[in-house]
Amino acid sequence: MLVHICCSVDSHFFLEKLQHDYPQEKLTGFFYDPNIHPYSEYQLRLLDVQRSCKKLGIEVLEGEYDFEAWMQAVRGLEKEPEKGARCEVCFDKRFEVSAKKALELGENKITTTLLVSPLKSQEQLKKSGDAFYEKYGVEFIAVDYRADGGTQDQSRVTKEEQLYRQDYCGCIYGLTMQREQQERLMDEMFSPISKQILPASIEERLAMYKKRMLLEDEGIEYKIIKEKFLNYRQFNFKLIKGKKEVIPAYALTYSTLPRKRAQGQIEFEDKNIHYFNREEIKFITLDYFNSLCNSEYKNIKELIFNPPNFDEELKIRASIESNNYALSPIIVVEYLIDAKLTVAIDAKTYEDTKEKLIIL
Ligand code: SF4
Repeated sequence: MLVHICCSVDSHFFLEKLQHDYPQEKLTGFFYDPNIHPYSEYQLRLLDVQRSCKKLGIEVLEGEYDFEAWMQAVRGLEKEPEKGARCEVCFDKRFEVSAKKALELGENKITTTLLVSPLKSQEQLKKSGDAFYEKYGVEFIAVDYRADGGTQDQSRVTKEEQLYRQDYCGCIYGLTMQREQQERLMDEMFSPISKQILPASIEERLAMYKKRMLLEDEGIEYKIIKEKFLNYRQFNFKLIKGKKEVIPAYALTYSTLPRKRAQGQIEFEDKNIHYFNREEIKFITLDYFNSLCNSEYKNIKELIFNPPNFDEELKIRASIESNNYALSPIIVVEYLIDAKLTVAIDAKTYEDTKEKLIIL
């Protein structure tokens, strides 16, 4: 039987149940989910499915990440709610490719781990599955593992196995709607040009989940815990001299301006910190920055494209500010300017939760 897999939270419990109920069947997993966006999230879900299938002794095949074809398939349905018409097309597309894969492998049964997800309509899934049975002769096994406390058992297994628990279905449209309803920043869509790994980003999680696989291979005990913290994202930053001369500059992380703009000039210097006369803004030179982080940046462009890692940047901020909660802008420049300056920073701080790996 070919089992289409959407994520480890659904697949681990579902596959365990199938192994129990269909002991005569050789199960093969098929991770085909081009709906998942962004690609880093796709990689993260695949990684956790591979880990889970390894534990269960089930081979898992990866389908093509044909994201553009998926986008084309759901065109015109972008505003549909979850469980609506877009989801039907999304299921159909995934079933069609899975059914073809089953035919290619000589299998005559397919099923999908989506059946166990409380957020999915079993009726809708069954309708898609049965349509393909008629078309391709590949039988759709519509098991209901949600009933009789199945959902509670699934939660227990998710916790016990420390599976990666994503908090959105997968596609950019569902995510956009969810974040709008939650009035939460859609930080999943941030992709800094610097490639700096931001706190609680998908990239940070991906690195952590890769590390936990290494720990498991080495038999080292660990736990994944959650921590609440104040997160930060910078949308835009500009330093302007006079009316429109843009000066190369870099605003350290956690630099915020309540009204996004401040005009003024540098007033005085003390111990390599140059104080602006508005909004508690501080300037430092690139040379001083280099001395603080033991780096050799030649210019601001180099710093923008290849900054220190996030924690290192926080340490630099902490060495300049006198308290741990400071949100004042700290701006790095190649040279100091004795003229009227406009500082424009569009950034957001927000309460967030991040996962952390602790070795026991
Ligand atoms: S919400 Fe989920 S099921 Fe619906 S279209 Fe998006 S990814 Fe597919």
